[in-house]
Amino acid sequence: MATQGLGIWMLADAESSCVTSKSEAYRKLAKEYHPDKNPNAGDKFKEISFAYEVLSNPEKRELYDRYGEQGLREGSGGSGMDDIFSHIFGGGLFGFMGGQSRSRNGRRRGEDMMHPLKVSLEDLYNGKTTKLQLSKNVLCSSCNGQGGKTGAVQKCSACRGRGVRIMIRQLAPGMVQQMQSVCSDCNGEGEVINEKDRCKKCEGKKVIKEVKILEVHVDKGMKHGQRITFTGEADQAPGVEPGDIVLVLQEKENEVFQRDGNDLHMTHKIGLVEALCGFQFNFKHLDARQIVVRYPPGKVIEPGSVRVVRGEGMPQYRNPFEKGDLFIKFEVQFPENNWINPDKLTELEDLLPARPETSTVSGETEEVDLQEFDSTRGSGGGQRREAYNDSSDEESGHHGPGVQCAHQ
Ligand SMILES: [Zn+2]
Ligand SMILES: [Zn+2]
Repeated sequence: MATQGLGIWMLADAESSCVTSKSEAYRKLAKEYHPDKNPNAGDKFKEISFAYEVLSNPEKRELYDRYGEQGLREGSGGSGMDDIFSHIFGGGLFGFMGGQSRSRNGRRRGEDMMHPLKVSLEDLYNGKTTKLQLSKNVLCSSCNGQGGKTGAVQKCSACRGRGVRIMIRQLAPGMVQQMQSVCSDCNGEGEVINEKDRCKKCEGKKVIKEVKILEVHVDKGMKHGQRITFTGEADQAPGVEPGDIVLVLQEKENEVFQRDGNDLHMTHKIGLVEALCGFQFNFKHLDARQIVVRYPPGKVIEPGSVRVVRGEGMPQYRNPFEKGDLFIKFEVQFPENNWINPDKLTELEDLLPARPETSTVSGETEEVDLQEFDSTRGSGGGQRREAYNDSSDEESGHHGPGVQCAHQ
């Protein structure tokens, strides 16, 4: 039986007297235990403040009676002692009914269930209806979520339906400490059902597992991270308004297209002859159409340049006849070294645009070698990394411990 560590300090006359006298008693205690006066009793002061606030607010009082101190703290948005402290003196109020745990009509609201839903770019382009099977708790239909026949459910006598048992300890005249623990007879539910009266279908649990199939409509143009909500479809429980099932779309990577909002991007490789002399190529779009792209002779594609096809991007969500654009980036593959007989190069040169005139140099000159360089290793950063690797390879014997340190 778990007893809650922090008992709640309660003024002995709280039940019978009106708020004014409680406030007076509180003020007296607060004065006595105020940190300015009594620096060692800081926590006690906070507890007194907390207790006072609970007792003077009927909603909190009820929540405390039902769920205990923990419920109260959770209900108040999980605020700790520091918050309670500031609420009393800063004049702020607990945002009690504001949290997600309560619905508009004041009933407790169950948790929302989030599920990721993986979808391909094709699905988001074309739209898709898919079925999702899930297992969830529903109120037992044979006992209407009561756990037994009408009248079988009885208030737990051990805790008088509160779900918690309260022990009161007198600490000083006029002041008692109230300790509480979860009732073991009813497991904190406040209700008991005799074994013979328990519903056969749910064994008194009030809910049963049910397989539910949801029809999910993925609309054209939906985006990664977009949510599809099924209101009130999450787990059911007695006295609780069920939460929602929320599907969060996860767009899978596509081999050909990258998406950017309503636009699509793709990369296409062409040869030097295509870059200079025009070309035609085709690809399969996300709706399986074969698209032919033609670029006329006379127009040139520079390596790394981008061309756009208007209206061949993603459909707009809820306006699918409007589409974004398709951007095609061109990689131009140049021929290999020595791809042509040097004699032929002069012929080629005659056809190509003329060279720029070499500038005349005066004074001493120095001729240097132009070497192959792997551009994937980068320029500035790559050289530094290279230098680091070289030194660590050569001197790994000396720097053994240092290297080990770096790995830890
Ligand atoms: Zn039942
Ligand atoms: Zn009980």
